[in-house]
Amino acid sequence: MAAPAKGGKPGAKPAAGAKGKGPARKASSKKASCYEVSGDSLKRKNKSCPKCGPGVFMASHKDRVTCGKCGYMEKR
Ligand SMILES: [Zn+2]
Repeated sequence: MAAPAKGGKPGAKPAAGAKGKGPARKASSKKASCYEVSGDSLKRKNKSCPKCGPGVFMASHKDRVTCGKCGYMEKR
């Protein structure tokens, strides 16, 4: 018993994400993209809502930022 005899078909291994259709689903969430890691500190890229407090980020638009939670809007 030298060679592993089980399932020895080259190139037949199930690729990761081969199940289902489409490309492998990304594990990144929207929230994660609001942060930027620089060194060992986190930087918030987006402004957070002054009404909802930190943790609720404003969506940045062309000339304004809005809060999707309370509807607060701030012009740039
Ligand atoms: Zn808000």
